[in-house]
Amino acid sequence: MNKYKILIFDLDDTLIDNLENVKYAFKIMIKSKNEEYNEENFIRWYQIDKKFWHDWQDGKITLPEHLKGETGKKSNEFLNWLRAQRILIYFNNEVNLDEAINLNNIYMDALTENVNAIDGAYETLEYLSNKGYYIIIATNGPKVATRDKLLKINCINFVNEILSADMFGYMKPNKEFFDGIEKTLNNYNIEDYLIIGDSLKSDVGFAMRCNFDSCWFNKNNDKIDDKYKPTMTINKLRELIEIL
Ligand SMILES: [Mg+2]
Repeated sequence: MNKYKILIFDLDDTLIDNLENVKYAFKIMIKSKNEEYNEENFIRWYQIDKKFWHDWQDGKITLPEHLKGETGKKSNEFLNWLRAQRILIYFNNEVNLDEAINLNNIYMDALTENVNAIDGAYETLEYLSNKGYYIIIATNGPKVATRDKLLKINCINFVNEILSADMFGYMKPNKEFFDGIEKTLNNYNIEDYLIIGDSLKSDVGFAMRCNFDSCWFNKNNDKIDDKYKPTMTINKLRELIEIL
C-alpha cells in the first residue's frame, strides 16, 4: 500500500526547466522592443523577476488604491497590473503601464513556446501514475501556461488536477492555497499528502506551514537553510521511483 495518496508536484524547476524557458521568453520580449539580447541583461531580468514574486509573497508590493479591495481570486486588471510591475522595474519606468502589460503578454505567450522537461520527469510521473497515486500540480504560475507546459512535455495524462495560485488568489506557501487544494479534492487526511518541489520557501515551507510531508528536490546540491525541515530530500527526480 502506498503511504501517501496525493502527490503534489511543483512545476517550475521541478518538472520544467524554468531557466531555459525563461531565457527564451526574455529573448522574444526583448526582440519585440528592438533591443539586443545579452546574458548580462538576462541575468538582471531573471533576478528582478524572482525578487518581485518573493516580495509579492511577502506582502511587500504596494497596490494602487483601486485594486486594494480585491481579495481571493483576482481580476484580469489586477493580474495585468501586478505582472507589468516587473517589466516597469526592468525598463526603469521608461515604458508606460500599457506597454508593460503588452510586453508581459508577449513574454507569457513565449513562456509556453519553448518548454524543456527536467531530466526524468516523464518516467517518474508515468511510474507514479501507474502506481495509483493521485497526482496534482500546485504552481504559483498561471493555470493556462501550466496546462500548455505539461502538454509540451507529454505529461498531461499523468496529472489528475492542475491547481494554480491564480485560481485561489493565494500563492504557496500561504495556507489559503492548501485550503483551496483540500476543498477541491475533498475527503483526504493530512497524512495522505506529499509535496515534491525545488523551493525551500514555497514548497517545503508550504508543507511545514500546513503540516503535511515534503520532499525537497535539491537538484543543484544547495546547502539547506536550517529553518526548513523537509521530510526527505532527493537530487534526481528518478529517486522517487525507489522511495514511493
Ligand atoms: Mg519551483
